[in-house]
Order: sequence, then C-alpha cells, then structure tokens
Amino acid sequence: MMRRIRKAAVIGSGVMGSGIAAHLANIGIPSILLDIVPEELTPMEKKHGATLADQSVRNRYSLEAINKLQGQKPAPLVSKQRLSYIEPGNLEDDLHKLKTVDWIIEAVVENIDVKKEIMRMIEPVRKQDAIVTSNTSGISIEEIAAGCSDEFSAHFLGAHFFNPPRYLPLLELIPTSRTNDEITTFMKAFAETTLGKGVVLCKDTPNFIANRIGTFSLLSTVNEMLANGYSIGEVDSVTGPLLGRPKSATFRTLDVVGLDTFLHVAQNVTKVASGREREVMTPPAFIREMVDKGWIGAKAGQGFYKKQPDGILEINPHTLEYERRKKLQAPSVEQAKKAKNAREKIKMMAAAEDRAGRLVWAILKPLLLFSAEKVDEIANEIQSIDQAMKWGFGWELGPFEIWDALGVAETVTRMEKEGETVPDWIKEMLDKGFDRFYHEDSFYNQGQYELPAVSEKIIHLSKADKLIMKNAGASLHDIGDGVALLEFHSETNSIGLDAIQMIRKSIVEVEQNYQGLVIGNYGKNFCVGANLMLLLMEAQDDNYPEIDYVVRQFQQASAAIRYAAVPVVTAPYGMTLGGGAEICLPSASIQAALETYIGLVEVGVGLIPGGGGNKELYLRQLERLPSGVKLDLQPIANAVFETVAMAKVSTSAEEAREIGFFSERDDWIANQAFIIAEAKRQAIHLAEKGYRPPQKRPIPVVGETGYATMLLGAKALKTGGRISEHDVKIADKLAFVIAGGRVAKGAYVDEQYLLDLEREAFLSLIGEPKTQQRMQHMLLKRKPLRN
Ligand code: NAD
Repeated sequence: MMRRIRKAAVIGSGVMGSGIAAHLANIGIPSILLDIVPEELTPMEKKHGATLADQSVRNRYSLEAINKLQGQKPAPLVSKQRLSYIEPGNLEDDLHKLKTVDWIIEAVVENIDVKKEIMRMIEPVRKQDAIVTSNTSGISIEEIAAGCSDEFSAHFLGAHFFNPPRYLPLLELIPTSRTNDEITTFMKAFAETTLGKGVVLCKDTPNFIANRIGTFSLLSTVNEMLANGYSIGEVDSVTGPLLGRPKSATFRTLDVVGLDTFLHVAQNVTKVASGREREVMTPPAFIREMVDKGWIGAKAGQGFYKKQPDGILEINPHTLEYERRKKLQAPSVEQAKKAKNAREKIKMMAAAEDRAGRLVWAILKPLLLFSAEKVDEIANEIQSIDQAMKWGFGWELGPFEIWDALGVAETVTRMEKEGETVPDWIKEMLDKGFDRFYHEDSFYNQGQYELPAVSEKIIHLSKADKLIMKNAGASLHDIGDGVALLEFHSETNSIGLDAIQMIRKSIVEVEQNYQGLVIGNYGKNFCVGANLMLLLMEAQDDNYPEIDYVVRQFQQASAAIRYAAVPVVTAPYGMTLGGGAEICLPSASIQAALETYIGLVEVGVGLIPGGGGNKELYLRQLERLPSGVKLDLQPIANAVFETVAMAKVSTSAEEAREIGFFSERDDWIANQAFIIAEAKRQAIHLAEKGYRPPQKRPIPVVGETGYATMLLGAKALKTGGRISEHDVKIADKLAFVIAGGRVAKGAYVDEQYLLDLEREAFLSLIGEPKTQQRMQHMLLKRKPLRN
C-alpha cells in the first residue's frame, strides 16, 4: 500500500511546533496542534468571566500560537488563507484525534522526561502504522522511545527541523536501531519532495550533526575572542560573508538563537565530550552571567548586542558593559571583500597574517579538525556534514569544502607544523593520491570517490558538453528528452540586451530542434529585473533610440515566449522582479518554487513595466473569467493597475496566485532544487499533449473612462499627501497603458497597439530627471527613493 501523509498532529505549540504546523499548512497538509491545558486563568480571562472548563481556555496555548503566526516576521505562512489548515486543541480533550492522523510530530520542551511522557500518551491512541517523530535538538532518540513497543519504535525516528521551519532547508532525520528502514526511506523522500527540505541522515548522537559542529564552532570562536582580545563586533565583522556565512555571523546568530537555548544545546554534549570538544564546550563564565541577568538575546531585547536609538552597542565580555560596536579593520578584510566567491575569500583570509587573518585561521583550524575527527561518529560520510552546515546554518561552504578551498595537503602541513594531530584517515587519503575531498560531483569516502545518491529530480547544469549556445548574458543547454534550458548568468541574474537576444535565438533553435524550452537557473534569485545600470547610462546620454531598441527587443522576446510553437515553461524562485516577472508571465506554464517573490516593481525606479508585463498581467486576469460571461472590465483593469502601481511583490508562489501573477496552468513545488526538473517534466507533458500556442486575439479594454477611474484613486492619495507629484505622473502613464489609451470603453485593441503604448510611456518616463534619480538611488543604495 502506498503510504500517504494526509493529516498530521503537532504536539507542543511553541516556537517550533507552531512553525512546523504552519509549514505543513503551507504545503497543504492539515494538522491538529495540541498543547497542555492551562492550570490557571490569566487576568484577561478572569476579566471576561472565563472558567478553566471553557474550551477557549483549555486550548489557550495552541490558540495563542495560531494567532501569533499571523504577525510573525518572517511570515511562517505562505498565505493567510492557510491558517484554516491548523486546528487548535489540547492534550486532554483532543488526544483521541491522534487516531485520525498519519504523522505525529512531537515538539514539546527539550526535556527527556516530558518527551517520554508524550510517547506514553501517544502510544495507545495512535493509528497503527502512523509515523511518530521527535523534534528534539539533541536528546537521544533511542532513549525517548525506550519504553515503547516494537511496532511503535519501528515507526519512530527523530525529525529535527531548524528554525524557522518554513525557511531553513535542513531536516535532520535520525533513525534508531529499531526504526524500520522503509519508514526512514519514506520520510526522506516525503521530506524532500513534499516538505521541500534538504534531508541529512544522522546517527543518534548528542545534538546530531549541524548543532554538534555548529555549537562547537561558535564556542571555539568565543574562546578565541577572549583569548586574543577581539571584540564581539570585530569577530562578527570577519565571521559573516567574508567566510561565506550569513551576515548574522557569530554573535548575532547567538542572539537570535537565544543564549539560554544555546547553553542548553551545548550541555547536551558535555557528558560525552572528550579531548578538543571537552575543552571548547565549557561555556565561558561571562555567557552564564549574561543568562543569569536575563540578557539572553533578541527575545529579551539585549544579548551580545543592544539596540539604542543612536546605534547598536556590543557587550564587553570582560566588564559586561555595552560599548559602541567595533569592526575589525585589516588589509586582508579589504582584499577579501573584492574576491569573487566564498572559496577565494576564505583562502585569502586564512592565509593572511594580520589580526583578521590570525582570527580566521584560529577559528577555521579547530572547525576543520573537529569535523574530520567526528565524521564516523555522527554521520555516514563527509557530505552529510557539509550539507547540514549549509542547509542548517546558511554557510556557503561546509567544513570539507573549506579544506578543499584551502588545499588539503597544504592545510595538513600547516596544522602539523603548529603541533596539531591530523586524523589518520586524512593522511591516508593524501597518501593514496586523493588530494581533495570532492572531485567533480563525487565525495571522498573510505578510500574512494563516491557519487551521491543523485535524485532524478535534480538537473545539474555543470556539464558544459551539453551547451548549445552561449553569450555573455545567458546560455542554452540541452537537458535531454528533447528539452532545452535557457539559463541567465549575469552576476545577479539581471537581464540585459544579451539575455534578451538569447531568448529570441533560443526559441528559434528550440522550434527547429526540440520539443520544449525551460527558462530557469539555480542561484539566489531567478532574476532581479532588467539591467538598470545600462538603461540609466543610455538615458543620461540621451540615447533614446538605443533604449527604444532594447525595449522593442524585450517586447519581441516576450511575444516569442508567448507564441512559440513549442511550450516555454519558466521556473522562477526567490526574487523574480520586473523583467524577471515579464519573462514568466507570457510562458505556457510557470513551475515555481514555493519561495517565489514575484512582482512588477518598476514604479519603484520611476518606470512602468516595458517588456509587455502590463498587458500580460491584464491578459492573465481576463483568462481567469469564464468565457461567454459579460465582463465588467473595470475591476480587472483596477486590479492590474493596483498591482503594478503599488509594486506588489508576492511573499510566496501561493500569494502570487492570489494576486494574479499565476493562473490555473501554473504550479509550485516546495523544493527549489527540483524546479528545473519539474519544469522540464511540464514542458514534455505539454508537448506530448500536442501543445498549441495561444491565438492572437483582440483584447477588450476600459478605454478613456476607465483610465479616468483608475487615476482617481492616485489623485486622492496625492491630495492626502501619501504620494508625490512624480508618483502621480507615473500612475497617469500606467493607467493610460492599462486602459488602452483614448478609445471607448469595451473597445477591442490588438496586442501590438498596447505594447506601443507601453513603450512610449516607458520612454517618456525614463527621460524624467526624477525617474533617473530613482534609478540612481536604487543602484547605489539598493532601496527605492520617494521623490
Ligand atoms: P517552546 O518553549 O517554544 O515550546 C515548547 C512547548 O511545549 C510549549 O508550547 C509548551 O506549552 C509545551 N509543553 C511544555 N510542557 C509540556 C508538557 N508537559 N506536555 C506537552 N507540552 C508541553 O520550545 P521550542 O523552541 O518550540 O522547542 C520545542 C522542541 O524543539 C524542543 O525539543 C527544542 O529543543 C526543539 N528545537 C528547537 C529549536 C529552536 O530554535 N527553538 C530548533 C530545533 C529544535
């Protein structure tokens, strides 16, 4: 029988429980969220005459947790409408409901006795065959289910989410010696495909992988700071992006985690730690003092940092006084900032002999040695450690990738010269002639390079032999089965003339030799829009014919996507802004990642969409309506106007559907790594169904009266002082374009006419000094200017 997770239960409605329930809701799995029954009334409940027997009181914890989900940042839910997927309850009145679920997730306080008690409660009511997981951060999974039956234990394993569950990709799965292999295999596939997680299988050892390595590295960094007189801010200025890690670096990460939680997690290993780990894992006294004072980080308003109206202060670990935040200034820092990727930055920093370089090496050395010492104990192979650190802590390079970046042999020599003992298996690896941990797609394991279990859902783009054509902005690859992939590859995936021209050339090629085209890439963002810098330079040179040419080319590329004889499927993820959105909108189908932030944001730089985006968004709204029904076009035009004028950006693919960027023929999947394969599958599916491009048809518009209606709202905002004169000018042009210009209400116009209106409006706005100021500001400050 096929196993399915139709419904889940989450026990414990705290930070993690509610976040996990929200993520389940995001991907469409309903859940019951259960917590303990309160023993006392709150003052507010007393005031309202409630009693302890009232349902609203008995469900207080889960109700409050569900309520909180709505205001939390970053948003745990992909759409407010998803809230209805979570049913509140409590562990007394609703325990019987566990019978109805396929997966029970324990996420109660980190206390072995409480967790064991929960298993004791679950066991008699759970449906036979239902899976049970624990979200413990580091308690032994085997011990949690120690007293349970074999049948229960066969279905029980650790499933450790990272906070926030919607956004952090890592899910550590920890089977015990009693877990049925079929359950582990199912959970891995389910978590990757349906939950969209990066799954790492761990051994059942304290803190599993990411927290074991992560807490060690964080504490060894704290120790180095104390031993060699660095400040909190100085350490953070070097241990963030310069090492390919998030901006929150070391101490801001700890403030977010909470110092209390951090100490708790650290304590999990003190019993088993020996050698290097034992020395490092004893937290310094000043952190304990901070916890005693309640200065536990962001949730308390102060920790290693404290925000003041005039800036951010850092704590002095020796005096526990807050002082002005410092940054480490050193030649190596300036040099590494200019390096083109994390590998080079780390290499430069680790080799530097100045104060910053010494700090980096003193932090990396124990991390690399500790990871190498622990592989066998905590993981199945080295790749699990690297993936856990990348997916769980947001590092660009895991420890073994860092070894490779520094050069394994050179690093071993340096370490030994400094009196360190390097694990034998690394020296044996070098002796056997393997000089790196990773070779192409394989990783080193027990005397050989081993290929990872490649999922057929991931298409690797590294194989240059499948390149069809390429220019500076984009390349076209053959990805098999008669499908080609067009990939943008400028630095931020912004699109310039090169990429635009490649779209048109690709479609010609694909129409001749392939059955479908996918437009997609892997990176941080699908496409952040048109290359503003180029457009601004042309505008400042008054080179309007060139801008006109670029816009025409873009419009033609967009039309080529829409009317291609083969299906063009786009695979957006992350930021899909301006021109990026305009490439998706005309495609035959959009196969997005759930985390897609799509918007026509040109107004922010004083422009309106110029690549056909207004018309495409309008057409998508028209297509939503049943044919034959007499349309009131005005609400449709108004909705498009509002979306573009307010530069609305969806906070997820689900919201993109609600706003109108996505339609019925589009879809999303939770795992971003799978989108290109999914888009390819969709292209094949459409081709095999006998794909036919849409027909060119006249488009009904609201005309001159509709234009006036749209503009009314903007003028009211201007009168209320909410928008500027220049905003009104942009709104005016936009309304005119969407309305179809000076025609009668309900008139039919052709697409080219609408594109001409759009291009004229674009060209007139780009000549405006205030628009150019906005563009310049965006390029320099990365923020919109309100002028
Ligand atoms: P939390 O304190 O926010 O929530 C714990 C919940 O457990 C509360 O809702 C509480 O009412 C409930 N609870 C307390 N006693 C209970 C009992 N006897 N029976 C049933 N429920 C009870 O904690 P959290 O951060 O959500 O952590 C939950 C689990 O997830 C812990 O095991 C923790 O180690 C783990 N975890 C936490 C994080 C994180 O970053 N917060 C990350 C990964 C894993």
